Amino acid sequence: CTLELAPHICVVGSGPAGFYTAQHLLKHHPQAQVDIYEKQLVPFGLVRFGVAPDHPEVKNVINTFTQTAYSPRCAFRGNVTVGRDVSMSELQEAYHAVVLSYGAEDHRTLGIPGEELPGVISARDFVGWYNGLPENRKLAPNLNCDTALILGQGNVALDVARILLTPTELLEKTDITAEALNVLEQSQVQRVWIVGRRGPLQAAFTIKAPRPRKRLLELLVRTALKPPEAKGIDRRAETPRAWGLRFLRSPQKVLASPDGGRVAGIRLAVMKLEGSGENAQAVPTGAVEDVPCGLVLSSVGYKSRPIDPTVPFDPKLGIIPNSEGRVLGAPGLYCSGWVKRGPTGVIATTMNDSFLTGQALLQDLEEGVLPLGPKLGYAMIEPLLKNRGVQPVSFEDWEKLDEEEVAQGQVAGKPREKLVDPQQMLRIIRH
Ligand code: FAD
Repeated sequence: CTLELAPHICVVGSGPAGFYTAQHLLKHHPQAQVDIYEKQLVPFGLVRFGVAPDHPEVKNVINTFTQTAYSPRCAFRGNVTVGRDVSMSELQEAYHAVVLSYGAEDHRTLGIPGEELPGVISARDFVGWYNGLPENRKLAPNLNCDTALILGQGNVALDVARILLTPTELLEKTDITAEALNVLEQSQVQRVWIVGRRGPLQAAFTIKAPRPRKRLLELLVRTALKPPEAKGIDRRAETPRAWGLRFLRSPQKVLASPDGGRVAGIRLAVMKLEGSGENAQAVPTGAVEDVPCGLVLSSVGYKSRPIDPTVPFDPKLGIIPNSEGRVLGAPGLYCSGWVKRGPTGVIATTMNDSFLTGQALLQDLEEGVLPLGPKLGYAMIEPLLKNRGVQPVSFEDWEKLDEEEVAQGQVAGKPREKLVDPQQMLRIIRH
């Protein structure tokens, strides 16, 4: 029967992991039907909401994802939060297999006193804000201070530092949001410290890949080679901005302003290394150092959340326990991307691991591990969503938003002006 030939597969999350897994399945199984569920109104995950606006070339992968979405056997189901609008057991009933590719949406907390003070924000929220993530659009970071301090020395920390330091005339031609550009134009920040627990040899950005090196270099060049004639447009032109790396420092306490109303500095424990190379451990020397700063950005990592009580989750590693993408103890369930490996690795790493997950799934199909009785796929989920008042959006809907963003961007000389208000986005879609 044809149903047996057409496995219905559901992918949760439309970031690189979701799209690359879908691509592999569609390419290597001529009948597979793939539905990609996404909680946002728009596709592409961190390619849209993570990758820095001044790195447009990284976003070219969107063209490949768009080709995948155009397959007649692929459908994008945006505006559907799995675990809330539809349960995992419902998806498992409707589909032959479910691939979890929902990324790492949380951030690690610092776990130190004062962390809740105004002026302490997570790099994740800050990145979401300048990249137009709807939930962060009202972040309104206060850049009315001369020193910002970033805790963490990974790629995200470098992106954040670069955005704080880059002259706005270089950012205004990117897809950074109008709101972020406006706040950055008024920024008083002159100095950015990038603080790490360990030494230069262990800093996260010094590992293997050339990308972090390239980013560090970019940061250096951008801030060092500021064109002198740009003076006047931007107050930053008048006083050169500075940044620095501080190694072997671990945050102990955020210090409050005298009225207790906001951050005024941070107390850092001075560390020393025990052991050598990448495995060296930082241990406190007992000395502390207070650094005045008006803004603390914590960039100590992203973190996955459990999606549903029925899905195995390792809270310590922050991943779904799996073997080559097969979720342990849960036949028919797979995972790929950051929720499979943990929140590290570039898009190319995510691509490779997603292809491997796709391969494992197809192997299971072929070997009859997955029961191939008739399944209804989206035909079963659609009425459930309707009853719950959920209004899914399609890839064509995204293309309407895309068109609007590009048109608005054109006026401002940018590749696009991202829409950040879901209500407005829904109005454009329904128009
Ligand atoms: P994500 O891209 O996060 O995609 C997960 C998707 O799942 C999201 O769209 C999310 O909305 C959706 N989702 C979450 N929960 C649910 C749910 N319950 N229901 C439905 N959908 C859900 N890599 C590079 O190669 N170059 C770069 O320049 C680069 N810059 C980066 C900058 C930052 C700030 C960050 C954080 C990462 C960067 N990366 C970069 C890494 C790259 O973004 C990741 O490797 C990749 O995005 C991971 O893909 P993913 O699909 O696992 O996760």
